Amino acid sequence: MRHDIASKLSKRDQDVALDIDAPAPIGTDAEFVGNVTGRITLRNIGGGEVAAWGHLNAVALMPCGRCLVEHEVPLEFDFSESCALTQIDEPLSYTQVADEDEPARIPLLDGDVVDLSELVRQLLVLHVPPRSLCRPDCRGLCPHCGANLNETRCECDEDEIDPRMAPLRDLLD
Ligand SMILES: [Zn+2]
Ligand SMILES: [Zn+2]
Repeated sequence: MRHDIASKLSKRDQDVALDIDAPAPIGTDAEFVGNVTGRITLRNIGGGEVAAWGHLNAVALMPCGRCLVEHEVPLEFDFSESCALTQIDEPLSYTQVADEDEPARIPLLDGDVVDLSELVRQLLVLHVPPRSLCRPDCRGLCPHCGANLNETRCECDEDEIDPRMAPLRDLLD
């Protein structure tokens, strides 16, 4: 996500639009299938600030919150962020903690080159859901033997199942 456009971006009020089609940056704490795609437009609005907006698509690979089976979670979102032509020092240790008076602007520069990876990393972190189900009616794992109840009926004694769950179980059968 490196683009040799720093000189273009140094001019005020000029839009620089970039097509994105690259692997997800490291440091998102998530796995992704295929490339992150979309379009990002940057505009130097003065005062050291660069407005960034656009649209991104990505597919996260996440374990189901009930049965733990990995499944694909499509992400698609519009965004608008405040960035700056400052150096990305260390993306992995960069925090989003912002001073109340001066909100953190996302750094865009790696040397003389505009690098969108820190911007994209923060956007992905923001949009990956904390929990996802493989399907809305996932039956999860048997609490006794750990069998995936989407795939099999286990031999566990049904009497051991929490009686409060019985009406739900009958519905699912
Ligand atoms: Zn599941
Ligand atoms: Zn079982």
